[in-house]
Amino acid sequence: MPIEYDAPDNHIGEISIFGPGIGECIVLHIGQGRWFVIDSCLCPKTKQPIALQYLKDIGVDASTQVVGILISHWHSDHIQGASLLLEFCQNAKLFHSLALISKEALCLVSLYKKDVFADTDKDVREFSEIVQYLFKTKDRNRLVPVKSRHTFFDNRNDIPVRLVAVSPSDVAVTQSIAKLAELKPKQGDSRLRNVVPESANLNAIALHFSFGNFSALLGSDLEETGNSQTGWSAIFSDNIINELSLPSASLFKVSHHGSDTGHHDRIWTELLVKNPLSLTTPFTRCNLPTADNIMRLQKLSSEFLITRDPRSNKRVKRDSMVERELRAIVKERKTINDKMGHIQIRISEKGLLDIRTNENVVRFPGTVE
Ligand SMILES: [Zn+2]
Repeated sequence: MPIEYDAPDNHIGEISIFGPGIGECIVLHIGQGRWFVIDSCLCPKTKQPIALQYLKDIGVDASTQVVGILISHWHSDHIQGASLLLEFCQNAKLFHSLALISKEALCLVSLYKKDVFADTDKDVREFSEIVQYLFKTKDRNRLVPVKSRHTFFDNRNDIPVRLVAVSPSDVAVTQSIAKLAELKPKQGDSRLRNVVPESANLNAIALHFSFGNFSALLGSDLEETGNSQTGWSAIFSDNIINELSLPSASLFKVSHHGSDTGHHDRIWTELLVKNPLSLTTPFTRCNLPTADNIMRLQKLSSEFLITRDPRSNKRVKRDSMVERELRAIVKERKTINDKMGHIQIRISEKGLLDIRTNENVVRFPGTVE
């Protein structure tokens, strides 16, 4: 079914997932015309944050109706355009993994003048733009640090709606603050190259979202580490499921683009119903999810959807003659990569799903034995 371009009714929930190949953004309708945006990527055509563009397309005023923006972790495929979102969505708080907005990180950024960010990584630039915007508007209160157990909202009106964080764990936060402290610039070095700790995926905020009887687990890029105190393991060793009374979810935004490192057996037995609907965005630079990843997820799911074919970014092989002629014509040739995949799921009051996809989405049937 094609994507619906009317805004959902007040009592209909929505989870829309966007992924252009490299990049991820999730847009939630939490009822009553209120919206929540998780991560950000740009529309390849307009270069606008895809969340703003989509909400505009369906007639939602993002400047008043978006109540929260969450950056699940600080990697460039999840944050492009986040500063624009923050500026535009004036009613929204910006939620952020606790480790990365610790005092140390803010001090570090405030040490630097704007221009030193010019030639740094994209994710550092985006970070600097957000922090500088908040300093400029003296609006630090819009920044809300988050770790596991954080409740974003918990409305128990006619349709109960709740969003809670199931990571990062206390230990992951402590570890990453310790790492930030090591990043102090050396004397004479004016560049801030590495404000994002390498372990950002340990600090990723995975979420549990409930709308009426329906629940979804949104795994962000949270990875398993082999350490019981961080990553997916910490959710089980810290007893988060019982503590937060989390119902098993019937939809899973598979973590870390379907990679093996994002997998943990207990996710499938303790956080999800048997054979849930699974979906993810690809990370085409690393060919994620791989064919093996897809097979594993098919076995565990009723159906597995990816916003784009992870193989679609590969160069087409041409014979050498054609290749030489082409090279003569164009000096620099880029593979065409301007397709945004979109999975739109609307949730009825009774928890029934209406699943719609655009032409870039690939669907794999479940192969449950
Ligand atoms: Zn990612």
